Parts: sequence; structure tokens; C-alpha cells
Amino acid sequence: MSTVSAVESAATVLDGKAVAAKVRAEVAARARAYHERFGRRPGLAVVQVGEDPASTVYVRNKRRSCEDVGIASFAHDLPAATGEAELLALVATLNRDPRVDGILMQMPLPKGLDASRIIDAIDPAKDVDGLHPTNAGLLLVGRPGLRACTPSGCMRLLAEARCDPAGKSAVVVGRSILVGKPMALLLLEANATVTIAHSRTTDLAATVRGADIVVAAVGRAHMIKGAWIKPGAVVLDVGTNKGADGKLTGDVEFEAARRVASAITPVPGGVGPMTIALLLSNTVDAALARAVH
Ligand code: NDP
Repeated sequence: MSTVSAVESAATVLDGKAVAAKVRAEVAARARAYHERFGRRPGLAVVQVGEDPASTVYVRNKRRSCEDVGIASFAHDLPAATGEAELLALVATLNRDPRVDGILMQMPLPKGLDASRIIDAIDPAKDVDGLHPTNAGLLLVGRPGLRACTPSGCMRLLAEARCDPAGKSAVVVGRSILVGKPMALLLLEANATVTIAHSRTTDLAATVRGADIVVAAVGRAHMIKGAWIKPGAVVLDVGTNKGADGKLTGDVEFEAARRVASAITPVPGGVGPMTIALLLSNTVDAALARAVH
């Protein structure tokens, strides 16, 4: 009896891989339609500076994913010793290149390169990561623009889980430009009542306990305890933490949290696959926006 009720009350595990596959299929159809209409494929330039092994894997995945959905990918691999002027010159070239609809600057950049200056140099219309201050500002003022990929992926997961944030209380743990802040703004745009927690939050347990939607984006394995989760909450775990055994884990105590949540993303296989899918989607959006302007 107790086993049955435990199973019945366990959260739905949100399958990020399946949702990402759905998004990619949509992107492929839109990329095909774009090609038919405008005589070329949408194009994404993926720039890597240096040879950070994790970045090399991400970049390879992004380029392969482009080809899979009918987006042309332009590879720019530069040595770690590349100077700022040289990188800015490449960005300027890509900004002008009519075949390039999106520019992805793989982070982190090697020491000595100022990421903000490089991002600022990207044409906001080609900023498919949604990190340029213009796009961040458009999100803030509630106007259309390219949105950061991981938070957009989280919003799509909420939609797939049939979780409408309107009127709900949401807590975003983490306030980075990459994840936390845009996530909070997207939830606000969707009419949630949003709290942003961070390293100076005094009672994180109590803050999380009040939330119908919890987004964890910290980068500390299992720091969000299952006991903090409000029964029936939807939990999105953005964190990716590599354990000593090489395995990836999230920021949330998954097994304990899934017993109380109504829906939860696993790590790996939750938010992660959505990020690349939304990058591809942003590239087609950018291509269409550039074509009609
Ligand atoms: P950052 O390191 O930039 O930000 C971490 C945030 O967590 C900061 O705002 C920090 O607060 C906050 N924080 C740190 N310690 C605590 C604490 N004890 N209590 C509450 N908040 C705390 O990380 P990112 O936002 O770039 O990434 C977060 C995680 O998400 C990482 O694990 C990263 O690998 C992962 N990630 C996953 C992606 C995916 O596709 N799955 C994509 C992007 C990121 P403060 O500002 O006060 O320092």
C-alpha cells in the first residue's frame, strides 16, 4: 500500500531530451521553410578561442546539431593566444556576413580576453545567446528580442508540464546574467510572483518552501534539499556539477525532492538538452527577423 502511494505521489520526471527533440523537429521544419523562401539556410557562426576540453565538446555538439536541423554552421577555431583586437575584428566580419544569422561565442574565453567587450561587439540581431545588453534590456522592458537559451528552455519545459506560472509563486536561486536574472524576468513576464535568491539570502530553506516553481541555478551539488520543496511544486534544476566519479548531478536533492514535487527535471537529461535546442531556435528566429527587416 505504501509503495503504491509513494509511486502515485512521486513527481513527473520532465524528460528534457524528449522535449528538446520536439523543439529540434520544429526548428528543422522552420529552417526548411526559411530555405525554401529565401534560398539559403539560416547560418550560425560558432567561435571557439583556445582548446578548453569541455568547450570543445560543447562546440562540436552545437555544430553537429546545426547540421541535423538544416542550419549552416560556420566554424571559427582560434588559438588561445588570440588578442582582443583580432577577436573583435572577427566579430565585425561576422556581423557583416549576410550568411551568418547568429554568432555564438563559446565561453569561457581564455584569460586576458574581456568577455563583456566581446559580447558587446556582437550585433544584437545576431546575439543568439541573448546575452548582449540590448537583448537583456529588451527582456527587461518586455519587448521582443533574442532571449537567453537556458531560461527559455526552462519556460518551454514549464509549458510542456502544463504549468502556467501566472499567479504562482516562483523562486529562482542564482542571479547570473546567463541564467538567474533572465529566468526571473521570463517568469515575471509570464505573471509569476518572483523571488530571486542568491548567496546573501539569509533563509534559503524558507524562501524555497514558499515556492510553487523552483528554479535552481547555483552550481552546488544537492544544495536545494528535498525537505525544502513545497508539496506539488514544479522544480527545474539547471545546475550541472561533476562529481568525483565524473557523473553529473544537479543542484537539487533529486530523489528526496521528487517525492514531494509534482514535476521535476533530472540531471542529466532535463534542462541541459533544452539549451542547445533553444540556441537553434533562436538562430532561425534571428534569420527570420533579419530577413523581414
Ligand atoms: P554563476 O556561478 O554565474 O552563478 C551562480 C549563482 O548562484 C550566483 O548568483 C550566486 O550568488 C548563487 N549562489 C552561490 N552560492 C549560493 C548559495 N549558497 N545560496 C544561494 N545562492 C548561491 O553560475 P551560472 O548561473 O552560470 O550557472 C549556474 C549553474 O547552472 C552551474 O552549475 C552551471 O554549470 C549550470 N548551467 C547549466 C546550463 C545548462 O544548459 N544545463 C547552462 C548554464 C549554466 P551571488 O550572485 O550572490 O554570488
